[in-house]
Amino acid sequence: MTVMTMTAYQPDRSLGAKVRRRLTRWSVAEPLRVQPKRSYVCFTFDDFPKSAADTGAEILDEVDAKGCFYACTGMAGTSNQMGRLFDAEDLTVLRLAGHEIGAHTESHLDCARASDEKVLADIRQNLTNLDAMGHDLPVTQFAWPYGETRTRLKPKLTERFHAVRGVLAGTNRKGADLMQLSAYELDENDANIERAAAAIEHAARHPAWIFIFTHDVREKHSAWGVAPDKLRRLVRLARDTGAEMVTPSMALAAIQGNTMS
Ligand SMILES: [Zn+2]
Repeated sequence: MTVMTMTAYQPDRSLGAKVRRRLTRWSVAEPLRVQPKRSYVCFTFDDFPKSAADTGAEILDEVDAKGCFYACTGMAGTSNQMGRLFDAEDLTVLRLAGHEIGAHTESHLDCARASDEKVLADIRQNLTNLDAMGHDLPVTQFAWPYGETRTRLKPKLTERFHAVRGVLAGTNRKGADLMQLSAYELDENDANIERAAAAIEHAARHPAWIFIFTHDVREKHSAWGVAPDKLRRLVRLARDTGAEMVTPSMALAAIQGNTMS
């Protein structure tokens, strides 16, 4: 078993990096052109740990919700602080249950610090690996590792992916960037969980497309994960508000389909 550590990664906290992140978020590569007419809540899991594929998916299945799992194939079959990571069998089980497999990069690189060529090659390698692991469906969803990207890089993904998720908190309405959609993180910080809950409740009155993301789903979870009961509470809250709890691809198709009505 390969044990990877995630502590080695440190985001660039310089002033320049902060300004760049803000400019990147303001620079919309591909706007969502319609306003969601009802609320969509997409529960998503990054990297992704086996506990997300079993416990996380089971919690969604309890209310017939469909989620998305962004696979980093360089982590497949390994273990780190998030526990054991997914393998080929998880891809099959999730797909058969109606969940979506999205992409991360292959090496989980910081896309804001690598060259465009390196990022795109890493993305291609990840898709090739997913195919080799038996996942032969088109992969049209992507999540930026660490949420990091650059203004120049975002447009390059428009031909490859229908929607791309970031990690900055917020809801998505008309004008949101399909190449850097906002999302609410569930992690060790309970305030973040409450923030996500408030967003779900708010969207019941003001329709929006909401992404929730986390990593491992275990009682003794990592700093980036969540306890099963806390995830279940949000899933049931979303159900109780009447939100559509579908995959990102289903949500996007439904939102864009609204233009025809
Ligand atoms: Zn990740």
